[in-house]
Amino acid sequence: MPEGDTIHYAANRIRPILAGTVPEEVRAPHPRFARDRWDERLAGRAVTGVDAHGKHLFLRFEGDLVLHSHLRMTGSWGTYRQGQRWRCAPRRAWLVLRARGHEVVQFDGPVLELLTASRARFDQRIAGLGPDILAERWGEDEQRRFLRRLREDDPTRPIGDALLDQRTIAGIGNLWKVEGCHLAGVDPWRPTGKVTDAEALRIVELTRPRMQMSARDGNQTRHKVLYGRTGLPCPRCGGRIEQRGQWDDNRPTYWCPGCQA
Ligand SMILES: [Zn+2]
Repeated sequence: MPEGDTIHYAANRIRPILAGTVPEEVRAPHPRFARDRWDERLAGRAVTGVDAHGKHLFLRFEGDLVLHSHLRMTGSWGTYRQGQRWRCAPRRAWLVLRARGHEVVQFDGPVLELLTASRARFDQRIAGLGPDILAERWGEDEQRRFLRRLREDDPTRPIGDALLDQRTIAGIGNLWKVEGCHLAGVDPWRPTGKVTDAEALRIVELTRPRMQMSARDGNQTRHKVLYGRTGLPCPRCGGRIEQRGQWDDNRPTYWCPGCQA
């Protein structure tokens, strides 16, 4: 599932291929980009950086240009040695970059755009993001910003759903919201107004190292303790794992009534 750790993992694989070099090829084969001439606009420009904020990935080019990508539920990034078979059909490729004997491919969009760096800085979808749970630093400033945004939110909104709001904290998706609430022993259905600052911070502080691990090794699956396990016993207390859709987007929410209050 493309959550913050998936995107940081992709950035970590893409960086050694592209950063500091001029790609030999930049292609945007999807018909949507037929008139955008990205190959011409990016020709001869070196990639100056590859970074992620929450679920957004940025490929930065010389001359103040940024390729911005967000995978939503469907997209993925692949990195391949040149000539290696891709994991998805070539017609699903939206972007292909070739450098250092490798190919970097974005499959299935759905957000892929070329921006100037200043536009990217002021774009509300990007500038409005909360602190990244996977940022190198998670200090007092980040904690304060997270709590301030959380308290600005509807206090009746269940905490599980509030954690999905990328303006509050960037990078948590449905899987990590489920596992984070379980790790901290907090019921994802509890209204946010009834969750203390210490509990909210505890959810983040227990989730962050696991997401960091997954961002390093790409193995998200081993952190699924509750997710997808309706009716099975909770590994911590033996209670029965429940599942129900939550709030406006009806995202499947797993929890253990035995050890989450
Ligand atoms: Zn339990």
